[in-house]
Amino acid sequence: MITGSTRLAGVIGHPVRHSLSPALHNAGFASSGADWVYAAFEVAPGEARSALDAMLALGIGGLSVTMPHKDAVAGLVDELEPAAAALRSANTVTLTADGRLVGASTDGEGFVGSLAADGIEVAGASVAVLGAGGAARSVIDAVARAGAATVVVLNRTSQRAEQAVALAPNVARVGTEADLAGVHIVVNATSIGMGAPPEATAEVPFDPAVLGPEHLVVDIVYHPLRTPLLVAAEARGARCIDGLGMLVHQAVGQQVRWTGLVPDAAAMRAAAERELAARHQ
Ligand code: NAP
Repeated sequence: MITGSTRLAGVIGHPVRHSLSPALHNAGFASSGADWVYAAFEVAPGEARSALDAMLALGIGGLSVTMPHKDAVAGLVDELEPAAAALRSANTVTLTADGRLVGASTDGEGFVGSLAADGIEVAGASVAVLGAGGAARSVIDAVARAGAATVVVLNRTSQRAEQAVALAPNVARVGTEADLAGVHIVVNATSIGMGAPPEATAEVPFDPAVLGPEHLVVDIVYHPLRTPLLVAAEARGARCIDGLGMLVHQAVGQQVRWTGLVPDAAAMRAAAERELAARHQ
């Protein structure tokens, strides 16, 4: 029940009406007993400052930030957590009790957290990341912070791969498809495979013939959940993890920051799956 003491959180983005975040977060608040509600706010490009001013004026306790505002928000908050500072990008804003805005980037910790929830340890592992966009950079930064032994980055545009590698110079290097056979964890962080019928393609980001039972393949694309890469990797005997785990766990990290309470990741995943299934009917 919404009362006079209910706190408000939401997502800002453009476009944002398709976002899974309201379903995810409201299920999370219900699971932890937090007296919070979560809404979606359509915020036009260039209007991030106005959204943060509204947050302060209305006492909105937390915001998720999505395209195209992540980089702008990182430059506008009072303080950045370390991952957000390294990435110069924030997907989370928290209003503190003393009225300050703190920016965080929870995508990478969500990636590592989702693997940990499945019993997979990143520390000491060799990881290959396909892609060098915003999501890939979060993953590269987080697996390096979590103690990955090596991180090989493959990207269509080599200059962006070199920039991404600079996030973790001690363990990361630019690689090629020849590196994939020798790593433990292969992560698709490109947008290849994204899209439901009729726009879906059978495209995969690399030749799955290099995969075998020794590989763990994570596709961070979650629309559809079973991407062409995961279908092919499963056929090769690889262990597979879909992109919803990262989405859920980055949202868990946001709620912990906003409410101090830990929501139930399984309840949040179930809500997101129901929402995705409803859209495909
Ligand atoms: P982005 O910044 O636009 O980066 C896109 C990446 O995909 C770039 O590395 C790009 O390579 C590569 N790419 C795109 N089309 C390609 C093609 N045809 N061939 C080869 N490479 C191609 O996007 P993003 O924000 O990083 O998101 C990437 C994907 O991750 C999206 O599907 C998004 O939905 C998903 N995602 C999932 C989560 C989650 O929680 N599971 C979180 C964030 C994002 P170039 O550099 O050469 O252009």
